[in-house]
Amino acid sequence: MRVLVALGGNAMTGPDGSARPQAQWEAVTGAMEHVAELVRAGHDVVLTHGNGPQVGNILVQNEFAAHVVPPLPLDWCGAQTQGTIGYLILVALESALAGRGVERPVAAIVSRTLVDSADPGFARPSKPIGRYLPLALAQKLIDHGETWEDRGAKGWRRVVASPEPLEMLEAHTLRTLLDAGYLVTAAGGGGIPVVRTPDGRLVGVDAVIDKDLTAALLAERLHADVLVLATDVEHAMIGYGSPHARPIGRVSVGEMEQYAAQGHFASGSMGPKVEAALRFVRAGGRSVITAVHQITAGVAGAVGTVIDGAPTSPARPTPPEREDSHGDTPIEGQPA
Ligand code: ADP
Ligand code: MG
Repeated sequence: MRVLVALGGNAMTGPDGSARPQAQWEAVTGAMEHVAELVRAGHDVVLTHGNGPQVGNILVQNEFAAHVVPPLPLDWCGAQTQGTIGYLILVALESALAGRGVERPVAAIVSRTLVDSADPGFARPSKPIGRYLPLALAQKLIDHGETWEDRGAKGWRRVVASPEPLEMLEAHTLRTLLDAGYLVTAAGGGGIPVVRTPDGRLVGVDAVIDKDLTAALLAERLHADVLVLATDVEHAMIGYGSPHARPIGRVSVGEMEQYAAQGHFASGSMGPKVEAALRFVRAGGRSVITAVHQITAGVAGAVGTVIDGAPTSPARPTPPEREDSHGDTPIEGQPA
């Protein structure tokens, strides 16, 4: 089967969310052991990944150097993180495959995602990114053309557009590589956001695209059979964070839509995963939300929140396998 795995931040940063280089190496190395296992199980794997903490670090560099070096636009930040994380994945995945005696070529592709310049997000940027700053410091970046909002006691925070992903501009390249047997990493951080100008040119924009929504589109365009949203919890839960929390196992689209409408999935974290999972299933695929260490079992349908188009009986919750105390608050100072 062709499996698209979207790796969350915890697959690329330390357990405390740290994006120190050593922590990133260790996290990617660990995640690639699980990816290599999925390949050894006989699947064709495409990877995509988040980049929140990494872009957060570049924004801090922008901020401290703004008086000397012009800040990098967000499309450049996205491109840089695709390069860096792609490099880590190449090295770690090759090594994990070699350790299992599996011979597959690997590639990481700088990828652009087309968005609409008329997307409402551009007129009204609302996605907060980067650190809170006092106005005196934020002003330097406002002078460079950025939009910042007064967020009260915590200070000022940058807001940007988070437009809908419309097209994967590298889809043909990726299909060519897949047909040639490559394990490909693409569209990291949701892809580099670009718009088409009225005269047909593609230009990068200051925006961030949700990596889970891009993963659903990528899975569709690459004709994947399964979309795996690999994160730090083994299931999406009903009543998450409450004493009555229970994991969602195999579930139908209708039931999952109902849970979403009831507000069970936080908008900055589990919400986009559930939306991405539903989109891909509506497009004819199967989606699994599970933890990085469970991706092979998840693809087999043995664990995780599994949504497919087949009519199913009401959600059959599986008992929790571990205590989960992970909060859903994004890491301070970094895009969620
Ligand atoms: P990633 O970096 O993988 O995208 P996120 O932090 O964005 O991870 O999303 C995963 C987090 O979503 C979990 O760690 C959990 O704290 C949070 N979360 C919010 N609502 C739920 C829910 N209903 N069930 C499970 N986890 C949830
Ligand atoms: Mg997330």
